[in-house]
Amino acid sequence: MKGQSCWKDHDHWSCLGHVPPITLPASSHRCWMAGCSKRPDEALRPEYVEPAPIAIVSISSGERCAYPECSNIARDGSKYCSRQCSNRNARKRHKDRHAA
Ligand SMILES: [Zn+2]
Ligand SMILES: [Zn+2]
Repeated sequence: MKGQSCWKDHDHWSCLGHVPPITLPASSHRCWMAGCSKRPDEALRPEYVEPAPIAIVSISSGERCAYPECSNIARDGSKYCSRQCSNRNARKRHKDRHAA
């Protein structure tokens, strides 16, 4: 089977002759593998899609991570931005208690 390819988005296309399919940049006119597929028809190329604007509202209203040395925004439903910060803060509290 050869010549199987399809557009992924404006800047990428996939060669379906592989498992899993290889993603190639739109600047490549053919698959890296010799004798494999060519870039799909330019006419089928998807429109360029503006990246979705970052939701500023959710950032400004978000709580900061509860770990004092971290300035990331906490995840929804959590006091921390990550599991790592949660663990670090737990360790820190543990230490503080024993130092006092
Ligand atoms: Zn290929
Ligand atoms: Zn954090």
